[in-house]
Amino acid sequence: MTPFPEHLTDRYRRFKYRHFIPHVEQYEALAAYGQAPEVMVVSCCDSRVDPETIFSAMPGELFVMRNVANLIPPYETGGTYHGVSAAIEFAVLTLRVKHLVVMGHSGCGGVKAALDEEATRETEGQFITKWMAMLDGARLKVLASHQGASRKDMATALEWEGIKTSLQNLRSFPFLSALESKGRIALHGAYFDIATGQLSALNETTGEFYPL
Ligand SMILES: [Zn+2]
Repeated sequence: MTPFPEHLTDRYRRFKYRHFIPHVEQYEALAAYGQAPEVMVVSCCDSRVDPETIFSAMPGELFVMRNVANLIPPYETGGTYHGVSAAIEFAVLTLRVKHLVVMGHSGCGGVKAALDEEATRETEGQFITKWMAMLDGARLKVLASHQGASRKDMATALEWEGIKTSLQNLRSFPFLSALESKGRIALHGAYFDIATGQLSALNETTGEFYPL
């Protein structure tokens, strides 16, 4: 038998005694009555960008979906396994979340791969290249508007553009755009700068991110 990693066991016990036991009544209530989070966050898998930490969230408060580069594929009913769409459907139609936040971040490896076609080809696995192709349109837009810019600035621009692409794709889900037009759900873009800890929100009217 492969032993479970010791450091994870230690960390788990720390959680159990320092966090779970002091909040046991809250956990018991969540177990008995179910979850009713008001916010869904779509974030990157990146280990440095943890939504619960950034929003100081307690259990039951955030419905979180993380994937490479915080992307939402456009609405489509073909294919077989729609993990992202299933999570959105559950959060929006069953949990009735009131806010849906797409949170991107600085130094995103997925976005960097999308920007650098060479890198994408070199590291080509079975899944990443196809997944990041969702940003093809955004990449072309950034390349056209950032001629002569540094690679870092281009990557930041694509990280921002990727958030806008995901919001646009979210609105291709008919049930979501219907609820948004009735004011029952609000969509938000956010961007976390890892080095400074600055979280910014997207003003969809101007297309600019402003610090919170
Ligand atoms: Zn990322």
